[in-house]
Amino acid sequence: MAARSKKSASPGMNVFEVAQAQLDRAAKAIDLDPDVHQILTQPKSELIVNFPVRMDDGSYKLFKGYRIQHNNIMGPYKGGIRYHHEVHLDEVKALAAWMTWKSALLEIPFGGAKGGIKFDPREYSKLELERITRRFTHSLGSNIGPDYDIPAPDMGTNAQTMVWMMDTYMNSGAHTLKNAVRGVVTGKSLTSGGSRGREKATGQGLVYVLQEWARERGFTLDGATVAIQGFGNVGSHAARILARLGASVVAVQDHTGAVFNPEGLHPKRLAEHVRLKGGVAGYDHATVIDREAFFATDADIFIPAALEMQITGETAPLMKCKVVVEGANGPTDLEGEEILQSRGIDVLPDVLANAGGVTVSYFEWLQNRRAETWTLEDVDRRLHTMMTAAYATMRRMAVERAVDNRTAAYCHSLNRIQTVYRERGIFP
Ligand code: GLU
Repeated sequence: MAARSKKSASPGMNVFEVAQAQLDRAAKAIDLDPDVHQILTQPKSELIVNFPVRMDDGSYKLFKGYRIQHNNIMGPYKGGIRYHHEVHLDEVKALAAWMTWKSALLEIPFGGAKGGIKFDPREYSKLELERITRRFTHSLGSNIGPDYDIPAPDMGTNAQTMVWMMDTYMNSGAHTLKNAVRGVVTGKSLTSGGSRGREKATGQGLVYVLQEWARERGFTLDGATVAIQGFGNVGSHAARILARLGASVVAVQDHTGAVFNPEGLHPKRLAEHVRLKGGVAGYDHATVIDREAFFATDADIFIPAALEMQITGETAPLMKCKVVVEGANGPTDLEGEEILQSRGIDVLPDVLANAGGVTVSYFEWLQNRRAETWTLEDVDRRLHTMMTAAYATMRRMAVERAVDNRTAAYCHSLNRIQTVYRERGIFP
């Protein structure tokens, strides 16, 4: 508790401690009931499974998988599955809590969860990935379900991963129920029960909130410059949509390096390069820059869309942008946030800025339940309505309580969750 209440103690704090400190700050701002606060400091359940998988060469390898269910008072647990070699318990716990706040902020009837497997998916064949995914899904058993806990893609996973999960889950239950359980995962391919607009949803939602910010600030996106960290699903879609609005993506960094072109990088061409080469390194329409130069890029908009804890006491002083739009979950630590604030750089926090993904996941789940197929226009229109409403709520709360945007967003989520705890009480 002592470490958590130290405001600028982010060096040495792990990601879960940062998430806890963010919760504590918002709890204080709204005088959250200490009982509710206590419940929300820990996930409801933490599942860790170790499971063997046969590799292509006939050997067996043991994998460690996680599913952390943070809270389900607002609805079924909901959140992605991450495949990454640095996945660890505290990371998944933080990510699960962030999902609870995100769903509650967007007023989606879901709770929060997150899962993952600690391994580097790039080092495995497609057949191995399929066996790993199916065996993990089998190990999760009835800990997931369309009315209980609904996984989705995250870093290192995609629509194919979700279809394997769905198929494994379907084939583990009674045959007559197969089609009724399509909604056990979201982010599926269109052909296997996914939603139009789900793949670009996080990038699209991010742009919708950035447009609201621009409107409020009297800023024009046409002609604006952008730096993006991470060029996976979130970063590459945000780049493409922003380019269509006339913005210019001048710098991109990922695990392979950073590239810069003051004339603007071509998002579609760069995405194709990343797909073929596994990263931005080697893209020949740009100059190579180092990490420091990347953070110091002279761009109006900075979009972290990779891992947690990237904007820190070290990198925040370098940044020259007007606004940070958090495509990633938890990209800013406490010290980084304080520095951005003191330098007058606005932050559109993760629980709002990247909520387009879970919002369209909710649409997918609804379509599965009702056996409906919505048009892309319909999905985008509904997404736009929900993202702009959440932006307005966050800004109203920020002004009313004189707090930063992240705390304001948390305040709205916590108020809603607290109301439900008051109404329902604690069993028994
Ligand atoms: N993994 C995404 C996130 O962090 C999407 C979650 C979902 O669609 O359930 O928000």
